[in-house]
Amino acid sequence: MNLHLGSPSTPATRHWLGGRLPLGLAGLLLLVLLGLSELLLQQVQQRREDQQRQQVSSQAGELRARLLNELNGTLHLATGLAAYLQSRNGVIDEAALQPWIEGLTVQSRHIRNIALAPDNRISYVYPLAGNEGALGLYYPDNPLQWPSVQRTITSRQPVLDGPISLRQGGQGLAYRVPVFLRDGRYWGLISTVIDIPSLLRELPAAARSMHLQIALFSQPDDLSSPPMLGSSAWRTKAHSQLQLPVPGGQWLLLARSTEDASGSASMVWLRLLAWSLSLIIGGLLALMLRAAQQQQRARQALDESRQRFAQAFVTAPQGMALLTPQGRWLAINQQFCHLLGRSASELQQGDLLSLVAASEQAQASHHLQAAQTQPQQWESRLLDAFGQTIDCQLGAAWVEGQPPCLILQCQDIREQKRIERLKSEFVATVSHELRTPLTAIAGALGLVVNGALGEVPASMREMLRIAEQNSQRLTLLINDLLDMEKLEAGKMPFNLSRCSLAAQLREALSSLQAYAEPLGVQLCLQGGDDVMVEVDPLRLQQVLANLLSNAAKFSPSGAQVTLGWQVTGDWVRVSVRDLGPGISEAFQAQVFHKFAQADASTTRQQGGTGLGLAICRRLIEHMHGRIGFDSTPGQGSTFWFELACQPPPATAEDSPHA
Ligand code: ADP
Repeated sequence: MNLHLGSPSTPATRHWLGGRLPLGLAGLLLLVLLGLSELLLQQVQQRREDQQRQQVSSQAGELRARLLNELNGTLHLATGLAAYLQSRNGVIDEAALQPWIEGLTVQSRHIRNIALAPDNRISYVYPLAGNEGALGLYYPDNPLQWPSVQRTITSRQPVLDGPISLRQGGQGLAYRVPVFLRDGRYWGLISTVIDIPSLLRELPAAARSMHLQIALFSQPDDLSSPPMLGSSAWRTKAHSQLQLPVPGGQWLLLARSTEDASGSASMVWLRLLAWSLSLIIGGLLALMLRAAQQQQRARQALDESRQRFAQAFVTAPQGMALLTPQGRWLAINQQFCHLLGRSASELQQGDLLSLVAASEQAQASHHLQAAQTQPQQWESRLLDAFGQTIDCQLGAAWVEGQPPCLILQCQDIREQKRIERLKSEFVATVSHELRTPLTAIAGALGLVVNGALGEVPASMREMLRIAEQNSQRLTLLINDLLDMEKLEAGKMPFNLSRCSLAAQLREALSSLQAYAEPLGVQLCLQGGDDVMVEVDPLRLQQVLANLLSNAAKFSPSGAQVTLGWQVTGDWVRVSVRDLGPGISEAFQAQVFHKFAQADASTTRQQGGTGLGLAICRRLIEHMHGRIGFDSTPGQGSTFWFELACQPPPATAEDSPHA
């Protein structure tokens, strides 16, 4: 039968969980979580920016289309005019041309004027009003415009130039179309001036409605040239850059979302949230690791305590066993097996009770039952493998666990019993052998001292008195020793009968008067209504005589000793109160022990054996009572005993036993 010791943790796991690693691990996990959340946030931000870029691009594309639409609509008119001039072989008929151009300008809202420049000199302007300054302009003479005009002529393609400062005042876009006649001869230019504010008027509002900020550059390659629209300050931070193909060049449309700020604010909240979540998760992980660590430590402590218990169980010098509440063996140590001369597997066939002597089985079963609520200790005779009985001191206590069980201790007390027996026999023999001659000596001395055998010479009287006193003291000691021995061997006869307590107390008081008088102590009785008690009157007198004589001998001369009784419920308490020195705190626990005397020298003065109270206790317990005392050192003592009150007698009178 083995004890299950569990599996203790290995040193490696102990080190792992016992050190600071869990906290470090939790910190590391927290850092990883923070890093991951940061990465995730950056991805989210990136995706949002991409989406924003895409949206801005598509919205900017819409704006570009609108602008190109407005521009191309305007430019097509000039292209139509070039075809008209070609068909007229370059001959300008102002009367026919006027209504035609007028019609064209009405159709296009953004045209400020249209000028015809045969041989590069403007000879016709419509409308003339407000544009008179342009008439007569000869392009080769204008250094600002001539390079662009030259490019138009050499490339034979229309060019949109500008913004340019106009001779007639203000700024505009100049759309110049070179006209070549059918024979390939260069005729001149058609220059259409486009009003920039008019062309771009609707663009900012449209951009705002799309939550966009825009900028339009006519010369994207020239970083110093100012934008036609918007600001160049955020040129590098644009979300979208779109090229606008215009005749002879390219414009650039930049756009960015105005919702940037709100986007980054939401990222701040998102970041805060992610960090808080990381902290919470990190904290939870730390708590979990801590709990696991504590659990591990508890398990480790449990393992160690199990191991210690198992070791103590195995190496204990006395028999030890674990039992089910019914007394069946769960585990048994080697010493127990050795004591009973049986192997563990043999014992396992039966239970504890089957090993207890038949006459003591009921008692053992009762103790096993009671041990489930309170530890028990009792003596039992166990049968060994050869049918011999072994005197054992057994102790049982309840152990909560899985499963709950009783732990049993067994001490072999055969040797102790043998010594006790020897001692009692010795005391009994010696006492018996001493009593008879001593009684004779004491009797003879008594006769001599009292002068029954004639006048005693004065020189011998004192010596004879001392000899008589000592022989009496010796008789007392031997009587006490014999009483004690009888009580312990269970050989003291008890004749219990119902008696009047008051009568018993009166009798004891009068018997002790003769003892108290020479000490100068007054004995008095104090009590209420009489009660009936069931006692052996002889033994009760013995107890009272002991308590009263103690009280008298420890009282100062002239003091009073009070014998009284008091009924409380079903019990009556008899007390003997004196005004002597009381009992020191150090001695109180031993008062009822055998041969206990607080101060041997004082007691020798007073006389006494140190057995009186030990005998009283056993006598009272045999009469189903209890005994005790209350004492304050220096203020006297009260020795008491309690007995069960008996119902009053049915018959008329109840005579006391003396
Ligand atoms: P003894 O025969 O020595 O009186 P007891 O057993 O009657 O033996 O008393 C034991 C000891 O208890 C005494 O020696 C004494 O020290 C103490 N004792 C008993 N009664 C009293 C008392 N009334 N006042 C003080 N001490 C007492």
